[in-house]
Amino acid sequence: MIVSPTVFFFAPLFFALVAVFAGWLYYFLRQRAPAAPRRSRIYRCAGCGHVYADHRDRPLCRCLKCGAMNEALRR
Ligand SMILES: [Zn+2]
Repeated sequence: MIVSPTVFFFAPLFFALVAVFAGWLYYFLRQRAPAAPRRSRIYRCAGCGHVYADHRDRPLCRCLKCGAMNEALRR
C-alpha cells in the first residue's frame, strides 16, 4: 500500500479538525439543554431549631447539629 505525501500530510490534520468539531458540537449541545435543577427539601429541627436543606428526596433527614430526625417543611 502506497500512501501519497498529500494524504500522509492531510489525513492527521483532517482527523484533528474532526475531533475539534466533535468537541465543539458536544459542548454546544450540552449548553443548549441545561440539566434539570436539583430541588432540595427544607428541614427545621424540632430539637435545636437548626434550619437546613438536603437535596436527597427523603421524608426524614438527620439534623446536622444534634442528630435528631426531622420531617421536611416543603419541597
Ligand atoms: Zn437539631
